[in-house]
Amino acid sequence: MSYAPIREKLKRGETVILDGAIGTEILRRNVTWADHQLVNKPEFVRGIHEDYMRAGAEIISTNSFQLCRRALYNHFRDEAHRKHIGASDLETRAEKLLAASVKLAVEARSIVKPKQPCAIAAAVTTLEWCFRPDLAPDDKKARAEYTEIFKTVKDAGADLVLLETVNSIGEARTALEVCKGLGLPCWIGFVPTEEGKLFTGETLKDACAAIEPLGVDAILLNCAPPDDITAGMKQLAPHAHAPIGTYAHIGRFDPPEWLFTDEYPPSKYCAESRKWKQMGAKILGGCCGTTPEHIAALATLR
Ligand SMILES: [Zn+2]
Repeated sequence: MSYAPIREKLKRGETVILDGAIGTEILRRNVTWADHQLVNKPEFVRGIHEDYMRAGAEIISTNSFQLCRRALYNHFRDEAHRKHIGASDLETRAEKLLAASVKLAVEARSIVKPKQPCAIAAAVTTLEWCFRPDLAPDDKKARAEYTEIFKTVKDAGADLVLLETVNSIGEARTALEVCKGLGLPCWIGFVPTEEGKLFTGETLKDACAAIEPLGVDAILLNCAPPDDITAGMKQLAPHAHAPIGTYAHIGRFDPPEWLFTDEYPPSKYCAESRKWKQMGAKILGGCCGTTPEHIAALATLR
């Protein structure tokens, strides 16, 4: 329901503002990331969503990055090992946290009552480690896992799915088919390399040809440094018919957390985004390392 006004804006060729990072924003505010803080500090997560709405974001993405059963199970050698040493609720924990993440974003919207349209996007990424498309599960397994994830977020009240940090056409296609099959709008964010290709070596031209006929609602580039996003835009913009968008990361990944740098303060990030807008981006937001101040700067580009 709440997605309809966003779809109309994009149809009219207007700019839509996506929010900024949440995982790194939690760290920047000196809180750890355990269980995404959806259970222990819900008001804290909700507060970040509220800050992004007040900054002008029209799409709020949930704090659910890599919240899936597979990611929890990957910490163990095998099923027997998990049953031997793992917590007893690991089978159902991801589902519960996913639903909680959507609920918090919906609550934030009802508190802020933003003047502009505001849709809640369930942030979902690859089932296996990001940046490792070679580890992706086979199509049958992926379909079953994505079905479970998307049903959960739909029932919890998500208006669309933001499938982000995707590195291969195959994973994008499978997830998109499942998502559209459940009647949810779907945006897909690909990670571009320095050459503006996917990590698999596939091109964004081929990605467009594969996913546009399946009804993708927008194609974005995300979780790469600004220069790589520019390289990706050069490859994406000439071939896309769906609305396109950008949200770069800033800073450096320092596993398992994020290293903040002052390379891209809000004004400089805004200047990069203006360039992407001129190249055709209709959706502008921020990935890891960006803050509500960055999004407030982007909102001036509407
Ligand atoms: Zn990122």
